[in-house]
Amino acid sequence: MADCLFCAIAAGEIPATKVLETERVVAFRDINPQAPTHVLIIPRQHYPDVAALAAADSGLLGEVIVEAGRVAAAEGVNESGYRLVFNTGAEAGQTVPHVHGHVLGGRSLSWPPG
Ligand code: AMP
Ligand code: ZN
Repeated sequence: MADCLFCAIAAGEIPATKVLETERVVAFRDINPQAPTHVLIIPRQHYPDVAALAAADSGLLGEVIVEAGRVAAAEGVNESGYRLVFNTGAEAGQTVPHVHGHVLGGRSLSWPPG
């Protein structure tokens, strides 16, 4: 999609620190990390949020979640624990309208979230 930051990152038009790339999924470090591990995981194809992705292509959502687990393992947080978060909509704090999962770990994460 034109004028989408994460489409541009997936296409390599805007630089990012990528940690994983598959045919359909890309993961890169969040520019403003909230934990020692803070990686964003996205499908290359544009969907506005996780509900739209799930409705259109649940297999691709499954790939995103599988690759998030691989990122967590590569970051060494899969045994200590990590959080996979899809902020959806304004009140949840979604600021980029291209579905992305946050892989957060490497410290104790409080619950409930702020
Ligand atoms: P959300 O608020 O859930 O929509 O998450 C958007 C995330 O994208 C935030 O955590 C931002 O820090 C992150 N972000 C914004 N621009 C970039 C960028 N150019 N590269 C990497 N992460 C970014
Ligand atoms: Zn996009």
